[in-house]
Amino acid sequence: MPFGFTHMLLAYVTGKVIVSVKKIKVDYLFWFFLILGGILPDGDFVLDWLFGLGLHRTYSHSLLFALVAGFGVYYVFKKFDFKNSKVLGLGVCLGILVHIIADVITTSSCGGPAVLWPVGLYFARNMVCDTAVRGFHEGSFNWAIIDMGIGAAWFLYLIVRHKIEL
Ligand SMILES: [Zn+2]
Repeated sequence: MPFGFTHMLLAYVTGKVIVSVKKIKVDYLFWFFLILGGILPDGDFVLDWLFGLGLHRTYSHSLLFALVAGFGVYYVFKKFDFKNSKVLGLGVCLGILVHIIADVITTSSCGGPAVLWPVGLYFARNMVCDTAVRGFHEGSFNWAIIDMGIGAAWFLYLIVRHKIEL
């Protein structure tokens, strides 16, 4: 199961491949939303901790979430007449999709993401389950999540401040 930096890196590498193959030019905000999308699905941990929901890898790891987040970013930036609103929406959507695919590929049990949420099917690289098996992230695993949050905030800060050449 990839942690935060791996998810962000996978989103970034995917973006780099697409940009170089398609020979398109994008600005730093595209990279911000792409990498944010790469980590956003695991933000469900925060709600799990705060409210004890136990919904990790459900709504936030779905195609529906990717579409809603993509259209949400597009809509907000369009409202402010931002010229690249479509590209930003596509960026966050692509980052979320890369995250979901990575979670599916790296899971070999019934703990995979509910890709078709709200349909209760959980996808792994070698099976589809109708019941999720969770709990592998509890206890000391919480520290890995805190580490991921700090790392993600640091990386996104560097992008926003133009401290990283993308
Ligand atoms: Zn995930």
